[in-house]
This record gives sequence, structure tokens and C-alpha cells, in this order.
Amino acid sequence: MMKNPYSKDFPQLNNGSVYLDTAATSLKPNSVIEAVNHYNRDLSSNIHRGMYEAAVETTELYESTRETVAKFLHAKTDEIIYTRGTTSSLNLVAYAYGLENLKAGDEIIVSELEHHSSFLPWQFVAKKTGAILKFVELNEEGRITVEAFKKVLSTKTKVVALTYVSNVMGYITPMKEIISLSHQYNAICVVDAAQAVQHIEIDVTALDCDFLAFSGHKMLGPTGIGILYGKQKLLNIMEPFEYGGDMNDDVNKDISEWKTGPQKFEAGTMPIASVIGLQKAIEYIENIGLSTISEYIDKLQRYALAQLKQIEGVKIYNPTSETGIITFNIETVPSHDAISFLAEKNIAIRAGQHCAKLICDWLGIYSCLRASIYIYNSYTDVDIFIEGIKEAVAYFKKLGF
Ligand code: PLP
Repeated sequence: MMKNPYSKDFPQLNNGSVYLDTAATSLKPNSVIEAVNHYNRDLSSNIHRGMYEAAVETTELYESTRETVAKFLHAKTDEIIYTRGTTSSLNLVAYAYGLENLKAGDEIIVSELEHHSSFLPWQFVAKKTGAILKFVELNEEGRITVEAFKKVLSTKTKVVALTYVSNVMGYITPMKEIISLSHQYNAICVVDAAQAVQHIEIDVTALDCDFLAFSGHKMLGPTGIGILYGKQKLLNIMEPFEYGGDMNDDVNKDISEWKTGPQKFEAGTMPIASVIGLQKAIEYIENIGLSTISEYIDKLQRYALAQLKQIEGVKIYNPTSETGIITFNIETVPSHDAISFLAEKNIAIRAGQHCAKLICDWLGIYSCLRASIYIYNSYTDVDIFIEGIKEAVAYFKKLGF
């Protein structure tokens, strides 16, 4: 069977584990690790402040990463804000846009597919402003459809906050049609792209979304860095979310002024090393190409699903998943017992509610297992995973589960 040409770039794979937990966080390639090390080892300095060589190079790397992200998303550089991760990006929108612009009776459209970081900030905004949360009804597979979306969209809709790819079901939301419909009603669209950006090409200009959020660490980058894309006209009318150093233009006892552009939202010392690492992560993905990545993942996922379906006692919740996420249970076995068994065999998958309790409720389960495939996984990884599941089924059956 063909050898995976990318696995050699991911040193963590040398520990012999079968890593199928990319939806939680991805592994990092050498180029990302080296870029982070380069900053920590050779450049430690702050940005936008010092005039010495290291500080100048650091600022250049920090700002050129912004250009890389902007090109990657087809956005303008000034529309790219660094945050701590998807969670921070989505909270920023909820606080700085939602709290200021919504009032009692306005409606916010969400879905049961949302990760808690795409749902709870809007539940909070609804509570504070008196706005009402509306849920798109999922179809029988658990997908958001345009037809169901139309049923909840109305002149009262002010915000549409939806996941582009569900972290539990792996489905792709028909976001372009949803955004276009939302704009006909003057609603803004906030896209949670945490599980999308590493799988599908995102062109925010063509998509016409108002805000879009993702995390570096799920797309081969370091932890601690996230992106918020926001349309310039919206960012311009928003107040800062955090106040402190580097985001102000003029500070006085009575009134102070803020910088314009992304810096208005980047108060204090930012995760500089992680920003620099993110640039290398994007370059790594672009060098392979997102279409090559998704084709490969698709093949591997189909290979895994075909075998998993044959195992008696395994229930799969998303057999038509599109992005390498396979969600299932070994029936009658609590998911945490199952992952402990697999961990003994060096197979890394995740168990639990995946920070998406509403979809677990919808599925009628307390928790589930999730295997997630990415570009560094091989057919051998899938074989070992399938063998592990077979052994787990037999083991727990013997124990009387
Ligand atoms: N949205 C989705 C769909 C996710 O899968 C995750 C993380 O699992 C998040 C948001 C939150 O990302 P982070 O924890 O990096 O802020």
C-alpha cells in the first residue's frame, strides 16, 4: 500500500501512536515547530515597539502572517484580526457586535450542530438583550439545509451564527446560499470555520460572510492563535472588545482614541510565536493544496467507514460525513471506557460530547466516540484503528457489556 508522503514531516508520529484526533487539535509539521522555535530562540522581542533588529524582524513576520492569512481567505489585510482561537473570535463578535446591535424581539439563528463556542456567546447575547434564539431544524441525517433555514429566516433575523462544518457530524453547511438569503433580510452571518478551514477552500469575498472564525491549532498551526475575519465596514463601527496597550492612538484622562483596523482589537502582547507559526501552517497546507487534502481524506474516510460498518455492535451516526470525521459508539459501552481500551493500544481518538451537547441530545445519546482523519494519516493507521475497535467489541462483550 502507498506510503503516506507527509507523515515524515510530523515528528510526533515517531512516538508510534495512531493519531486520529485532528478535530480536537492537529499535529504540527517541522516547519511550524521550527518557526515557533526561531522566534523563541532567536527573536524574542515585542511587536510594533522596538527599533532593534530582532524587534523589526518580529514585527515583519507578525504582519506578513496577516497578509498570508488574508490571501488564504481572499480578504483584505485589514480585515484579519488575531485572537486566541475560534472561541475568542466568536466571543469578540458576540460582545462587540451582538450586545451593541441587538434589541428585544430581534432573532438570532443558530443550530443544534453548533459547538458551544458558536452557541453559548449568542445565548448570552439573547439573555442580555432580550433577543430570541431560533434553531434551524436539522434534516433526518442531522444536516442544516437551505429549505429548513428558509423556514426560520424572517425580517426579525439580525444574526445568523452557524457552523460551516460540524465537529461531530463532519457535514458541510450550504453556507453560500444561507448567507445570500440572510442578506436579503439584512441579517449578518457569523461563520464558525474551525473545522472547515483545513478541509475546504474559503473565499470570504465570494462567500460574502460578515464574520468568520477559526483556530490555528486545528490546521497544523500552534495553539493560542485564532483568526477573526470581519468585513471592514462592520469592524469600523465596532467598539474594542479588550482595552490596553497597543490598541490605542491617544490616551487622556477624560477620553481616549483607538487605532483603526485590526489593531483596535489586539490589545496587549499577542501570541507572537504562534502567529509566526501559523504562517508556516498555511504555507504547508497551500503547498499540498486543499483539493488534494480533501480528496485524500475522503478516500481514507471511505476506507475506514466501509470496514467500521461491518463490525457488529458498532453504531455510526454520520455515515455520509464529508470531512474525515467519523462519529460512532460501541453500543452498550460507555465512550470513555472504549477510549481507555484504545489508548492502551496507542490509538488516539476522542470520546465525550465534543463541546456540542445539543447535537448529542438530538442524536439521543449521552456521548460518543469520534475518529478524525487528516493528511498525515495512512491506510495502516485505519487498519490499526479498525483492529482496535474489533478487539474492543470482543473485550467488552466478554465482560458482559
Ligand atoms: N467550533 C468548532 C466547530 C470546533 O470544533 C471547535 C473546537 O473543537 C471550536 C469551535 C472551538 O475552537 P477553540 O477551542 O480552538 O477555540
